[in-house]
Amino acid sequence: MTRTAIDGERLLRDIEELNRLGAEPGPGTNRVAYSPADMAGRRLVADWLRELGFSVSKDEAGNVSAVLQGTADGLAPIALGSHTDTVPNGGPLDGTLGVAAAVACARALSASSTRLRHPLEIIDFAAEEATMGGGLLGSRALTGQLEEGFGAAPAWDGRPVSEHLAAAGLDWRGLAAARREPGSLAAYLELHIEQGASLDRSGIPVAVVPGIVGIRRYQVIFTGQANHAGTTPMDQRDDALVKAVPFVLDVERVGGELGLVATVGTFVVLPGASNVIPGRVELSFEIRSLDDRLLDRAEERLLRTAVQRGAQTDRVSAAAPVKSSTQVVSALEAACELLGYTHRLLPSGAGHDAMPMAAITESAMLFIPSRGGISHAPQEYSTPEQCVVGAEVLLAGLIELDTRLDLKTGGK
Ligand SMILES: [Zn+2]
Repeated sequence: MTRTAIDGERLLRDIEELNRLGAEPGPGTNRVAYSPADMAGRRLVADWLRELGFSVSKDEAGNVSAVLQGTADGLAPIALGSHTDTVPNGGPLDGTLGVAAAVACARALSASSTRLRHPLEIIDFAAEEATMGGGLLGSRALTGQLEEGFGAAPAWDGRPVSEHLAAAGLDWRGLAAARREPGSLAAYLELHIEQGASLDRSGIPVAVVPGIVGIRRYQVIFTGQANHAGTTPMDQRDDALVKAVPFVLDVERVGGELGLVATVGTFVVLPGASNVIPGRVELSFEIRSLDDRLLDRAEERLLRTAVQRGAQTDRVSAAAPVKSSTQVVSALEAACELLGYTHRLLPSGAGHDAMPMAAITESAMLFIPSRGGISHAPQEYSTPEQCVVGAEVLLAGLIELDTRLDLKTGGK
């Protein structure tokens, strides 16, 4: 029996073949969810897995799922997955790497005639990118977390989401049927590019993700008095912009002091004319952290400061942090150690399919470096060697979990 090992060249060829679908209209990769290129990409993944003996199906949301039976009876599948849809003019690896690496794991097991005890499931999630409203559409459907009336929400091009689904032969009213029950999977693992520069800067080849940050967003409005910029003396002004600008610096300072990320992302000066003293400033800021208590502290300090500076504030949204499964994290760390790769723990600052999946199963992720931290752009890049390292750790983590979870269920 040959050793169970990733065929790196094949993995890179698979990624290239997938990215030939959606190479137009350039630049970058264009497999926007439910477009003909996206559907063709999913068919290619399905074909690969069918050839490897998996039974392949597509659910009501367009998620492609492929299952290979394990050797033990009565065990739930361990799932590997990510997504092959992209943003318009996106990069070659966001999502695509995770799916291609999952296929590479299946190829490695097949080439060495190794069977896991658990069934192995590979999922190519539909519409992960925020092109169809809020993003994570396929994984939210699969875990029963779709919001009411999502079909009417505008997609990236302004048309309703329901129209895009219909073009791909899917009915938005039927998506809830894709739902799976908690416990229907033994675990979920996802390899992804970091989409930040931490690993690239530190030279560490792989990170295990202890969780995905919570995100809270706020709107803040500063009101002054719009007036003539030429005839109003400096000591008689009520300038909304002059009140708002120090708050932008407060956001930056508090983020740094508390050790989380805090960003003013939109800033509108009204009425917005060079000869009018600003009468109103509308800004939005967000804070992100894996630690809910830190989010509470940052929120309390920043809203208090905004009010002291005379603003009205409103919390627009709050998504709680999602912690990874400690069991899966420790299996992935063991996999890094087994292969001799330096690794670190690194929370994800972006949303991923692993986030909704945590609601129904033990879930965790792996990151490899993104050059310069760039993603969602044609310049998105990780070296071929980095991609292969990610797939190797994914495979070792899968095999580790197959043993560990089996012990937990009584060594069946
Ligand atoms: Zn992604």
